Parts: sequence; structure tokens; C-alpha cells
Amino acid sequence: MDLSLNNISTNHSEKIIKVKMVILGSGPAGLSAALYAARANLEPVVLTGMQLGGQVSLTNTIENYPGFPEGVGGQDLVDLFQKQAERFGAHIEYDSATDVDLKERPFRIKTYNSEYLTDTLIIATGAQATQLNVPGEKELIGRGVSYCATCDGWFFKDKDVVIVGGGDSALEESLFLTRYAKSITIIHRRDSLRAGVILQQRAFDHPKIRFIWDSVITEIMGEEAVKKVSIKNLKTNELNELPTDGVFIFIGHIPSTQIFVDALDLDGHGYIKTDKLLSTNVPGIFVAGEAGDPDYRQVVTSAGMGAAAAMQAIRFLQEQEENQPVPIKS
Ligand code: NAP
Repeated sequence: MDLSLNNISTNHSEKIIKVKMVILGSGPAGLSAALYAARANLEPVVLTGMQLGGQVSLTNTIENYPGFPEGVGGQDLVDLFQKQAERFGAHIEYDSATDVDLKERPFRIKTYNSEYLTDTLIIATGAQATQLNVPGEKELIGRGVSYCATCDGWFFKDKDVVIVGGGDSALEESLFLTRYAKSITIIHRRDSLRAGVILQQRAFDHPKIRFIWDSVITEIMGEEAVKKVSIKNLKTNELNELPTDGVFIFIGHIPSTQIFVDALDLDGHGYIKTDKLLSTNVPGIFVAGEAGDPDYRQVVTSAGMGAAAAMQAIRFLQEQEENQPVPIKS
């Protein structure tokens, strides 16, 4: 980080850094917030988290982000977001928050490398893949069990794989895997899909894809690598084994909000509660993207929420400077 910046100062240890805005997360929400805050001369610090770009950077092609009629690669889109935010003065730090103290302002954010004191905080920490929690799953992660077709698809060239789930992710990733795998069996716990109709049609029409309905995986088996799965039909309780080289699991996500459990109001599923202006129960702290959004979870909605959260934070700071009461409502 360039510590010569006016609004950034350090104490004697040069480990505590005072800023106007910290943004946690570098997905579409975090980087859009960074763009808006940077254009308001706040020189926001973005702590990327473990994965620069978040989930979208693991997505092969995004076909529904406006402005890209031919689709755009997930990583390509993240690169563009980052470049645009940095052009206006956002600071991208490859670091993660490890602890927060939000009881008083400035808020205190501890990271692996530093400690930040910040006047406002935008939480855009996103979500992570839900696990099936069946025997064999954890043991075989990286040895046939995967949550990311874009990352691991290549390893399954001419192999047989199963996919778990019936949503957009399961179908989109299955279609992506048809480039590599010999066969794809989608195992879904019901007899109808949650995914959008276009994806459904593409999957039904694809010669490499077949479905096993009303069924769940009860165990993933293999020593060094995945060899087979045990499948239970939920209507008949019949158990069968299916040989497979890989198990891709797309059954939803849980928000990455664990470090806020004692600091902010969360709902029963771990999403941070906000009002319609994306403000949390602590004035000056806003949420954008999947950390607070169980409903939309799209790149475009997350980016929009990032912009909105930054605008609210900018207003908050302005009102603070003018010494007006909080919380801020437009
Ligand atoms: P999702 O829509 O929540 O679907 C999760 C799927 O997993 C559902 O079919 C669900 O079954 C199944 N499932 C959940 N828990 C399970 C369990 N324990 N065992 C077996 N199956 C289980 O999640 P998603 O597909 O990741 O999509 C999340 C959001 O991102 C959605 O809003 C989606 O529209 C969006 N998305 C959009 C795109 C796109 O527009 N291109 C691409 C990917 C994702 P049930 O159906 O029975 O509940």
C-alpha cells in the first residue's frame, strides 16, 4: 500500500492503518463498491479475502451480465472490475480480515498482515459452497470431490462424473463439464429442477447428460480417489452404487459471515440483516452482495448492491462531517 496517501496514516509500529473506508471482499459487490468510493476520493482499501474476485472468478462464462452480448469469462470480468476501481484510487490488498471490533468508531479490522481503523465498513464477503456432509466427502476433496467445475473440469477428461443439485449452478456447471467428461449424471433430490428453463432445455438436450431423480448421495467411496457413490432413492428407499470418477456438488451456498456473529445482527441462515438501504444495525457498516442477499445472488445484483452500499457509506461520511445525526436515510 502507498502510505504516502493523505488519508492514510500509520502509528509508530506502521501496522495500524487509518482509513475512511475498508471493503471486505473482492467479488462484484466489493469491487463495485470500491469503484464508487474511489470516485468519491475516499481511497478505499479492499481486502480481497482468500479468493480475488470471489465466486465469480471461478465461473467459466457469464452470459447474463449486461454489456457482454457474447458472454464474458468470470476472471476476465473481475480483472476489468479491479482495473476500473484502481484507476480511480482504490487500494487492493491481498489480505483477509481475521477479527473485527465494531463496538465503536473508528471500527477496528484485524487482518493477517495489518490492523485497520476505518470510519466506514462495507462487508462484501460473499458466500461459499455448501457441503453435502456425507461420509467420504471431506476425505476425498481434491481427489474427485469438487465444488468448482471451472477449476477442476480439466482433470475429468473422458471420465464419468456425477453432479449433485438441481439449480442453475448444477446445470450450468454440468454443461461446462460436457467439454471434458465422457458422461455426466445429475443426481437431484426431487423430480423437477429449480434451474431456469433455458438451462434445463440445454441439459435435457445434451447427449452426455442424464438424470437420476428423487435421489441423494449417501456416501462417497474410494481410497486414493473417488471410485463410486452410494445413491438412495427417496421415494422407494432403494440403495444403489454407481461407479464414478468425480463428484461435483452444487447445492447452494452459505454466507461468509462467521466473524460478524457476535458483532452484527444476522438472520437464522447467517446472512447479515440490513434495511433497504443496505445498512446493518451498526451505523456506518453496510452490506453488499451475497453476505446479506439470500434471494438474487447474481453478478449484476451484487455489483448494483456494491454501488448502492458505497453511496450510502459516502452519505454517512458526509453527514458525519456535517455533524448530523445517524443513521443516514436517503
Ligand atoms: P440453488 O438455486 O439454491 O439450488 C440448490 C440446489 O441444490 C437445489 O436444486 C436444491 O434442491 C439442491 N440441494 C440443496 N441442498 C441439498 C442437499 N442437502 N442435498 C441434495 N440437494 C440439495 O443454488 P445455486 O444453483 O447455487 O444457485 C444459487 C443462486 O445463484 C440462484 O439464485 C441462481 O439463480 C443463481 N445462479 C445463477 C446463474 C445464472 O444466472 N447463470 C448461475 C448460477 C447460479 P431443491 O431444488 O429440492 O431445493
